[in-house]
Amino acid sequence: MSTDLTRLDVSALTGLLTSGEVSAVEVTRAQLDRIASDDARLGAYLHVEGEAALTAAAAVDRARAGGAEPGPLAGVPIALKDVIVTEGVPTTSGSRILEGWRPPYDATVAARLKSAGTVLLGKTNMDEFAMGSSTENSAFRPTRNPWDADRVPGGSSGGSSAAVAGHLAPWAIGTDTGGSIRQPAALTGLVGHKPTYGSVSRYGLIAFSSSLDQAGPMARTVLDAAVLHEAIGGYDPRDSTSIDAPVPGLVAAARDGARGDLAGLTVGVVTELGGDGHRDGYDDGVLARFAEAVAVLTDLGADVRPVSCPSFDLALPAYYLIAPSEASSNLARFDGVRFGIRVGDDGTHDLDEVMALTREQGFGPEVKRRIILGTYALSSGYYEAYYGQAQKVRTLITRDFTAAYAGVDVLVSPTSPTVAWPIGARVEDPIAMYAADLCTLPASLAGVPAISVPCGLSEGLPVGLQVMAPGLADDRCYRVAAALEAAQDAARGHRLLDELVAA
Ligand code: GLN
Repeated sequence: MSTDLTRLDVSALTGLLTSGEVSAVEVTRAQLDRIASDDARLGAYLHVEGEAALTAAAAVDRARAGGAEPGPLAGVPIALKDVIVTEGVPTTSGSRILEGWRPPYDATVAARLKSAGTVLLGKTNMDEFAMGSSTENSAFRPTRNPWDADRVPGGSSGGSSAAVAGHLAPWAIGTDTGGSIRQPAALTGLVGHKPTYGSVSRYGLIAFSSSLDQAGPMARTVLDAAVLHEAIGGYDPRDSTSIDAPVPGLVAAARDGARGDLAGLTVGVVTELGGDGHRDGYDDGVLARFAEAVAVLTDLGADVRPVSCPSFDLALPAYYLIAPSEASSNLARFDGVRFGIRVGDDGTHDLDEVMALTREQGFGPEVKRRIILGTYALSSGYYEAYYGQAQKVRTLITRDFTAAYAGVDVLVSPTSPTVAWPIGARVEDPIAMYAADLCTLPASLAGVPAISVPCGLSEGLPVGLQVMAPGLADDRCYRVAAALEAAQDAARGHRLLDELVAA
């Protein structure tokens, strides 16, 4: 058939697959061909599952031909961020220290997608151990933004964002500790959602900062993101922080939002995230697109008002103490004994030296910076002053959210203060890199859900709007995002029509 299967969103693909108009093998082959032609330039994948993907797709086709209905997602290809362990499939978390490791089990997220019949295309590039905002901290190679190959795709899930935006996968899983789903989604024109902490299993995610890490969907439409989120979400006894509560109807919320009626919804615009007195570091174009999108929400019937959350100003320093502290503890397990590479094991070094050499050569500079920062912040005599203080700030941020949600249903802000920046522009300046997370960190620290949805272009590059909701009210994020998406699609349709009439 002549349709380019790599351009279709998942709702369209599932229609063609379940009606038998296309086979899973055709869809998978189209994606693999596209990866073969474009990924040398984009660098979205660290590992591609060529033959194995075709074999999995063929099994779906056989099941359908045999009259079995293997489920609506069967045969839909997917890409997973390389922080998610996959049985028998190389998993590095973007680090040399895990090069060559093939995990003996699947993460719950990977297992759920496998049992839904999705076809794993491969593992996507990322900042090493998810530490970064540009994917330049990958130990293997940087990833490029499909909108402009000289710019970053965001991070740390930049391989996933580039793959989906560049049509090298219809959708992908990312993980978000301080913004790593939402910020790359914003910088590549995608929808990305960080679920309520505890609502998607962390079993089998290589841990960065355990009190913050969450996996979530990255997709080209709000509806696709909701479908993917429902497929991975829900209680998992293997994750001790998993919440035993039903996943709210996310697909239903996305469909409801797409009808474009937000009457009765109250929306708070967070002053501290790009509002009066808080515009330093924000692109004018980002603020302009954000303001226009907020006006659209008003047009759709929402009651919009400013809301102040004063502690959000402290989110950046608090996060950059808490996340490195937890990382320094989590990364202690990489010592060359059980996983990945081992350096210096030649009979001339004792065990301590082997561990030190392995870590010296296995970890990249940003990971070492975080381990040193975190170890310092946790050391006796400093613990209360740094880690303890940061935890108190975290409590204040949570209280700001609680107070805000007493008056509004959702909060909105830009997702990223800037559009995608040129590759290399921030690598020598960690503080500038950390500033990319300004808008995403509060929801991470409070554990509440937040989505990024495209809201237009600035300098020809995508801008994202963030919708935050109370814990377990992820459905509100999807509803508002879908309403905005539909209004923008309608506006685009009108513009095209005007151009046609004028022509
Ligand atoms: N950019 C942030 C960091 O480097 C967030 C990363 C993430 O969410 N994984 O820590």
